[in-house]
Amino acid sequence: MLYKKSLLELSELLEKKEVTSVEIAESLIKRINDSDNNINSYITKCGDELISAARESDARRSSGKQLSEFDGIPVAVKDNINTRGIRTTCASKMLENFIPPFSATSFEKLQAKGILLCGKTNMDEFAMGSSTENSYFGPTLNPHDTERVPGGSSGGSAASVASFMAPVSLGSDTGGSIRQPAAFCGVVGIKPTYGRVSRYGLVAFASSLDQIGTFGRTVKDTSKTLEIISGYDRKDSTSINMEVDFKTENLNGDIKGTVIGVPEEYFQGISGEIKDKIEGKIRDLEGAGAVIKPISLKFTEYAIPIYYLIATAEASSNLARYDGVRYGYRSPSSTDLSSLYNKSRSEGFGKEVKRRIILGTYSLSSGYYDAYYLKALKGRTLIIEDFRKAFSEVDAIITPVTTTTAFKLGEMISDPLQMYMSDILTISANLAGIPALSVPAGKDSAGLPIGLQIMGNHFQEEKILNIAEYIERNCEDMSVSF
Ligand code: GLN
Repeated sequence: MLYKKSLLELSELLEKKEVTSVEIAESLIKRINDSDNNINSYITKCGDELISAARESDARRSSGKQLSEFDGIPVAVKDNINTRGIRTTCASKMLENFIPPFSATSFEKLQAKGILLCGKTNMDEFAMGSSTENSYFGPTLNPHDTERVPGGSSGGSAASVASFMAPVSLGSDTGGSIRQPAAFCGVVGIKPTYGRVSRYGLVAFASSLDQIGTFGRTVKDTSKTLEIISGYDRKDSTSINMEVDFKTENLNGDIKGTVIGVPEEYFQGISGEIKDKIEGKIRDLEGAGAVIKPISLKFTEYAIPIYYLIATAEASSNLARYDGVRYGYRSPSSTDLSSLYNKSRSEGFGKEVKRRIILGTYSLSSGYYDAYYLKALKGRTLIIEDFRKAFSEVDAIITPVTTTTAFKLGEMISDPLQMYMSDILTISANLAGIPALSVPAGKDSAGLPIGLQIMGNHFQEEKILNIAEYIERNCEDMSVSF
């Protein structure tokens, strides 16, 4: 069962010439054909293209010209990351037929290693949402319980990896869109430091918060994929010009002497089972030699309003480009320029996207700018300050990822404010630009996965991944049963 293997295992098998890339591709394609009808994790599946790319990879290997030890391994990519020649929809009617003429840098970095694309994954439209229910292509279902959501917005990227339809995947995280679905689907997901991975070619939602990150079934797979896509890119002015300074090979799970902060604010209002599980893990870490320190991140309660002002303001500006003129959906019934704009935008965008554009435009409008947007920016600085202080005392911060385990489809979709609240534990890391990950901590009594969040100071990915490595080594099996 090749489709069950991890990225690192597949690489080893290919290097030893025990399997071919075509065999891996065929196994994954069969798995996707057999299982994705129930999950809907892919918007676009690359069947034939994948097989021919795999053939080319096998030819490279047999002539000793492989591009890296990962040459020939297929991965899944969220459908807001541009892939040249392959439809990139953002799960929106607006981009339903958009075939990008260029690729995102993160995708090009995968390709430079010979890594192949097995498909583009489902998501909330324009990455706005926490359940993948806001997709024009229908919701993705949670592989652990198909009556439940996989989380969002990168629900398809998390569900495809959890259900063995890809070894690893790329996602994006603006307020929790990698970590929350990773937690709900029982996989590992990391949002790196802002600036670590190029955003060039990622369809912009809120540019000061968006980061591309990775999913895997193991910490090492997740870390390795992140290593491959990290690094400076002159095409993204916010990308940081420094060496990739974390190494997957260094992850050994040794956490002796690591000082871990536990912020009380993150343990209020969460489910009892999650609280118990995370507190249990913190005690385990202490038993293994970590130093546990209670801390306070006192501006946490303002994170939601700050985020929803800043993210919507940036979105209203970023989404202005979809006007029916240059690309994307154009309403067939428009009569003049203004009706072209109006109708194309009214018909092309879904409800949540429109809500965000209206909210953002309102808070940026004259007379309200100071009271809302500017105030939110000031609040953001207080949150950054909170973390700066905390990281002068601790190496990492551990919290739950979500207040509940995966909720039922339809349960929150009619109440946007309640849906927004589900980001309460993840969005501060985006506001502060720090790296944060979700690693499985076990399951609740209903068998649903629980995620543990580890946040680190800027560029401390290796530190948080190493703590995750320890948690993973001491965690029950999280695999789905089909
Ligand atoms: N759920 C959050 C939102 O709807 C975060 C989305 C994301 O990280 N892309 O904005």
